[in-house]
Amino acid sequence: MSYTILTGDRATGPLHLGHFVGSLRQRVELQHQHNQTVMVADLQGLTDNGNNPQKISANVLNVVADYLAVGIDPHKTTICLQSALPALAELTMYYLNLVSVARLERNPTVKNEIAEKDFARSLPAGFLIYPVSQAADITAFGATHVPVGEDQLPMLEQTNEIVRRFNHIVGQPVLTECQPLLSNVGRLPGLDGQGKMSKSRGNAIQLGASADEVHKAVMSMFTDPGHLNVSDPGRVEGNMVFTYLDAFCDDAALVADLKAHYRRGGLGDVKIKRLLEDCLQSLLEPIRTRRAEFIADKGELTRILQHGTRRAHQVSQQTLQQVKAALGLDFF
Ligand code: ATP
Ligand code: MG
Repeated sequence: MSYTILTGDRATGPLHLGHFVGSLRQRVELQHQHNQTVMVADLQGLTDNGNNPQKISANVLNVVADYLAVGIDPHKTTICLQSALPALAELTMYYLNLVSVARLERNPTVKNEIAEKDFARSLPAGFLIYPVSQAADITAFGATHVPVGEDQLPMLEQTNEIVRRFNHIVGQPVLTECQPLLSNVGRLPGLDGQGKMSKSRGNAIQLGASADEVHKAVMSMFTDPGHLNVSDPGRVEGNMVFTYLDAFCDDAALVADLKAHYRRGGLGDVKIKRLLEDCLQSLLEPIRTRRAEFIADKGELTRILQHGTRRAHQVSQQTLQQVKAALGLDFF
C-alpha cells in the first residue's frame, strides 16, 4: 500500500543527529515506495523568531542541503518551502475558526515550549496557533502518514480533530485524517543530557559537524558519574554513550556484550567512547562531504527547492479549492 506522507523541519538551524534518527533516516527509506513531501517550515520557524527573520532565511538552504546530503532524492520526494505556498496560510485562516483558544493552550507540546521559552504575556499569537498551521500543512497534501518524533503526537491529534470537525460541518469527507509513523528512537537526548537534542538549545551534533567536532563531542560526553575506576561496575541506564550506541551502532549484539561487560566492571569509558566515535565518524563522513558540495552551489539548491515548491503549489491549491467549495465560498 502506498502512503501519502508529509513531514518537515523548522528552518531554525542546520539539522542534527536527533533529526537523523528521529525522522531523516525513515524518510530516505519511505521515499522509494510512497508519495512523500518534505517541507522546509520557515513560517513555523518565524513563530518564535519574529524579531529575527534573518535567522530563518539564512537556514532555509542549510536544511535543503541536509536533506540532500542524507539521501533524500528530489526525484522521489517533493521538497518545498512553506512560505511560498499561499494555500497553507489560507487554510490556516479557515481552520482557526474550528479550534478554541483553550484547546490550543492545552496542547502539551506547545504548553511545554511556552514554559521553556518563558514567553508569559509576550507569547506570540502565531506561536500559540502553530499546531493549526501544521494541520493546514498536513491536510493540504492529503497526508495519510506523518513520520515524526513523539513530541509531535499532540499536533497530529489536533489535526485530526480539525479534520473531523470540518468534515462534519460540511457534511462530506473533504479532508483526510493522518496517523504518525514513529521511529524506533523516540527522542535523542542532547549532549548536555538535559532534554532532547535541539537546534535551539546548542546541545547538538550537526550533520555537517567536522571530524574534530565529533571527536570533542564524544570525548566530553558524560557517562556514569559513579564509574571512577575501570574495574568498577558501571551503570548503562542514563549513560549517554550507551544511549547513543543504541541509536547509532548497527551491531546490536556487540552493544549488548559491551553493556554486560560495563555492568560487571572492567570496561573503561574511553573504550566505549572510541567505538561510538567510530560509528558516528563513519556515518557522518559521507554526509559531511556531500553536504559541503551541495552548500557550495546555492543556485542549484534554490532550483531544487523551487521545482518541488511548484509541484506542492498545485496540490495545495487543489485542496484549498475543495475546502472553499465545501464552504460554499468558491464564487470565482
Ligand atoms: P527547534 O529547536 O528550532 O524547535 P528542533 O531541533 O526541535 O528545532 P524541529 O524542526 O522542531 O527541530 O523538528 C523537526 C522534526 O525532527 C520533528 O519531527 C521532531 O520530532 C524531530 N526531532 C527533533 N529533534 C529530535 C531529537 N532530538 N530526537 C528525535 N527526533 C527529533
Ligand atoms: Mg522543535
